[in-house]
Amino acid sequence: MKRFFIIVSCVALFPWFTSHAQDTIPHVKGNVTISVKKGTFECDLVVSNMPRLKNYFFRLNSGMNIRYIKNAEPNMLPLDYEKSMKDTLSSGESSAYYIPSWSESGKYLPYTVRFNYVGMYPVITDTSSVSDWRGNIAFNGTSLRVDGLQSAWYPILYDATSDKRYEKVTYDLNITCNDCKVIYLNGSNPVNGTIAILKSNSPQDLTMFAGDFKSVVINDKYFLNPDADDVVLKDLEKELHSYQEYLQEKLNIPYKGKTVYIQTTPVSKNNSWLFVSYPSIIKVGWEDGMKSFQDQNNRAEFLHYMAHEISHYYFGTVRSFNSEIGDMISEGFAEFLAMRITRDFMGDSLYQENLKLKAHHMRNLIPIPVEKIRSKADYNNRELYSYYYSPLLFLAIEKEIGEVKMWKWMNLLLKLPAVKTNYIFFEKTLRQAVGDQNKYDLLRDKYLVSVNTFQNVMLTLDLSTNVLKISKNEEPKAKKYFYFYFSRPRTDIGSAQNKIILRTEIEEVTCTQKELIDLREKIYSKVKQKFDNESGSTGDFNTY
Ligand SMILES: [Zn+2]
Repeated sequence: MKRFFIIVSCVALFPWFTSHAQDTIPHVKGNVTISVKKGTFECDLVVSNMPRLKNYFFRLNSGMNIRYIKNAEPNMLPLDYEKSMKDTLSSGESSAYYIPSWSESGKYLPYTVRFNYVGMYPVITDTSSVSDWRGNIAFNGTSLRVDGLQSAWYPILYDATSDKRYEKVTYDLNITCNDCKVIYLNGSNPVNGTIAILKSNSPQDLTMFAGDFKSVVINDKYFLNPDADDVVLKDLEKELHSYQEYLQEKLNIPYKGKTVYIQTTPVSKNNSWLFVSYPSIIKVGWEDGMKSFQDQNNRAEFLHYMAHEISHYYFGTVRSFNSEIGDMISEGFAEFLAMRITRDFMGDSLYQENLKLKAHHMRNLIPIPVEKIRSKADYNNRELYSYYYSPLLFLAIEKEIGEVKMWKWMNLLLKLPAVKTNYIFFEKTLRQAVGDQNKYDLLRDKYLVSVNTFQNVMLTLDLSTNVLKISKNEEPKAKKYFYFYFSRPRTDIGSAQNKIILRTEIEEVTCTQKELIDLREKIYSKVKQKFDNESGSTGDFNTY
């Protein structure tokens, strides 16, 4: 199957993030003025009800220029503030600020803090940006898309001692956007108009989508900027709603909140992804969006990805998973549930096809047993471990313990109180779900501890190891190849510093694959001397 959505950013992007359930939730109040035509932000915000942190930072998008930071009590003067270069956990979009003091921590946190700042961002209507990503503040000419986690468009309190972020806030905001038709902020219904007065008492991260687009309500769910007509959206909503009902029944945890499905285009040519920021599910891309639902070639894949994002309501929102295996739990189970939905709603043959595809991707990774994961580096390949290996592992475990115990395990993963959702927690929940120490010990050894866990998973799922061996075990037979070598500047092609392009003629050779690789190396070392581009050069060896 052609892969047209790339899952890049998900809720569990930062696995060290722990649940805020027991915490004080900051409150953000104030005014926000935006122009989607000019790419501007003007914010005057007061953050209150903060936990009394000693070692904190406020993260704020690096494109925002601060007019002042004050204690929000009346008649206070602007405070000195400093930027820290040590906020290594920031994902790059934000700067970390603090108010210096003579206290032990060297930082002062007033009870309420007022931030007044402005920002201006490029409005990109012609996809001329080199890239677009979740944390980008994206003005595409007709709308603003900004997430409430990475972008830090509002001040996000961060506890540097416990690695805890407070991007989920309650709010009381007046948002003005004179060139918008719709203003939407996570946790509130979309507002048709240029002024939105929005309040939320339940904590939300402030993902926002505003601009000139259509807002459609279907069965109390919103579709913002959809490319499909109402008839298609109605059917689609029915389908997605049935997934939500299925999950809430099986997991025995209600699916709360009105989902808002957003579709928009990126400010670059080649980026395309889906992300979830509950209750919003956002699809960014140039290809078909919601209307993929009626396209026979893309329907199954589209629904699979939607099912993955919908499952993140549980593995991501009902509980955020931390520790070194948090990523694997959130992504692995979201994908496991998407596989279950594929099987139960779209049929076994599609499910089997999916299973084989997953197994086939694993030819590039020999996963280490879960028990051996000590840091994120141990995944070796985060994408393959979380999105491909983990769902296969969970499907194998399900085959051993049966569906009822599998749902029970997931329920425990979502509900069993724990500060760290680490490997000890992971084992504890599985042991409790299995409910038989001997059976559990066998299971543990076979799938979590043994060096052969991957082979065991493949065997249990009746997946032949042949799917893995497509190129690995190719017989060393001689074949006829045509080849040519091409080298161009790494970047900035055509500038005076980067002008050299080298290519060989098309040649013919009869040899084994290994000999072909040797030939490539020989040509490479020969032309290497001629590489004289300041940006470096590519080395493309092409065969056919
Ligand atoms: Zn995901």
